[in-house]
Amino acid sequence: MARLGSWIEPFPEGIYVKPADAWVDPSRPKAQALVTHGHADHARGGHGAVWATPETLAIMETRYGEQAGRPVQYGDSVRIGEVDVSFVPAGHVLGSAQIVLEYGGERVVVSGDYKRRPDPTCAPFVVVPCDIFITEATFGLPVFRHPDTGSEVDRLLHRLHAEPERCVLVGAYALGKGQRVIMELRGRGHDEPIYYHGAMERLCALYEELGVPLGDLRPATGASKQELAGKIVICPPGALNDRWSRRLPDPITAMASGWMRIRQRARQRNVELPLVISDHADWDELTQTIREVAPKEVWITHGREDALMHWCMTHQIKARELNLVGYEDEDEDD
Ligand SMILES: [Zn+2]
Ligand SMILES: [Zn+2]
Repeated sequence: MARLGSWIEPFPEGIYVKPADAWVDPSRPKAQALVTHGHADHARGGHGAVWATPETLAIMETRYGEQAGRPVQYGDSVRIGEVDVSFVPAGHVLGSAQIVLEYGGERVVVSGDYKRRPDPTCAPFVVVPCDIFITEATFGLPVFRHPDTGSEVDRLLHRLHAEPERCVLVGAYALGKGQRVIMELRGRGHDEPIYYHGAMERLCALYEELGVPLGDLRPATGASKQELAGKIVICPPGALNDRWSRRLPDPITAMASGWMRIRQRARQRNVELPLVISDHADWDELTQTIREVAPKEVWITHGREDALMHWCMTHQIKARELNLVGYEDEDEDD
């Protein structure tokens, strides 16, 4: 009998699904692509045909212009070549999906990026039992244990109210994290206007169009220092320390990221108020998910594979690391 999953071939540029002649999250344009979610390290423009959820396709069109999109709703199944393909929520960002591939009596799930804790901007992760689970491992070290999101948001609000003459400038990725921070604030009763950097405008508008109500949002550009005092301003992490932030009233610099668990990372970005809010599974979520999915084999992507490989071995699960390039979390994905 052929080796389990012999029809799935990992290449540095993506995962090739032979009997579908299609690539999952390829880093280069392909004739046929399946895309898990809209982050730039997974979704590139220029594919001949691209299967993804309608939300992911809308995000890709906002960023890259028109796509040869083949929308697939969560739970629906399509046949590509000889493979049955379906998309199941991954709980990472709006529209994010695990891709379920079925062929020759085997089921392979490509997780893309995922997390298990609640996120008011997207559908929660669904456990799909399978033969091979291809998991990310962005925070695949036992040192990564994300705290409760609500307590991080409370720290942010506490600091805001303690210094009403200043503003809190929160660095958050433009796709997903920014909208999630806004929704978490709304969920804690913060109804004040929230100001945003121009780079977030289109994606915030798209989230609203797709049914995520972000409340009173206003552009920071053009607002006076007086107006911004005591307010929250959200910007992409890259804008935290640039000239743009000088117009703000003595900002308290915050950043929402799983990496804020590492003090040195916070210092590098001059972050005064590190908020450990992540869109990726932490160590406990990764291991819990592998237990629940109960695959015969785990294939691991995204960086810190070693500890998870070892964990799988000690739990009698065959594990393999895939050396895909370009799945880097520095750009926007954390
Ligand atoms: Zn990723
Ligand atoms: Zn991502």
